[in-house]
Amino acid sequence: MQGLNLLAGIICGLLGLVFGSFLNVCIARLPRHESVVSPRSMCPDCGAPIRAMDNVPLLSFLVLWGRCRDCGVRISWRYPAIELATAALWVLCWLEFGVSVEAVGMAVFCFLALGLAAMDAETLLLPNTFTLPGIVLGVLYSAVMCPDGWLARLRCAGVSLGWAVCATALILTIRWLYWLVRRREGMGFGDAKLFAMIAAWLGPANTLLVFFLAVVGAALYGVLWMGLRRGEGGTQARIPLGSFLCAATIYAVFEGQATVGWYLGFFR
Ligand SMILES: [Zn+2]
Repeated sequence: MQGLNLLAGIICGLLGLVFGSFLNVCIARLPRHESVVSPRSMCPDCGAPIRAMDNVPLLSFLVLWGRCRDCGVRISWRYPAIELATAALWVLCWLEFGVSVEAVGMAVFCFLALGLAAMDAETLLLPNTFTLPGIVLGVLYSAVMCPDGWLARLRCAGVSLGWAVCATALILTIRWLYWLVRRREGMGFGDAKLFAMIAAWLGPANTLLVFFLAVVGAALYGVLWMGLRRGEGGTQARIPLGSFLCAATIYAVFEGQATVGWYLGFFR
């Protein structure tokens, strides 16, 4: 049994590397509305197609020293980093939730969050191709995780959808208030859809924790950014709030319950 469990952990890590490799394709192409299926992966510089043997997650990057085999241009460190991060998160899901439906659900959720974090950091875009299916999957996950009974499951799905609507309303309200005060766009619609996805998966308590952590993180980033660029004058920090929401989400998947419990302990 011990050996079987360890095997499951190793499979989680290897699957994480493979899906991380696919996630890299999504990160590079979805913000540009390109297909993730065709054409096949190619070097962004010389256009040479990536050979199958050079497409092995992590290993190929190490063997080629992070350079294209044909033209020698540097390949972004984002590729191995995303592959490693996906593998690490999937192994963490297995350690935290064991071999369970919850582990599979949270692995999918972490995959989406990691991809959206990278896309927002690189392009300030949060593609609908990730957020909208993410909301649907969150509602389905809530139904599957519900204790038995069709009626109960239907109710859980409804509640999950309800929290997603509340989350959207919160972001849109803040967006509107910000516009009234500053006459500028603060949060985007992408942030609203991302936050709806988070609420559908995590429920209200963890979603508020995510919001709090992300806003604090983004504010610190903004202050640091302006401090470093002082004197350049007139530059506005473009803060990828979605990346902070996603990072906080991944924290909440593993430590959210404990953190919320710790916080509520002060009121007992
Ligand atoms: Zn090349």
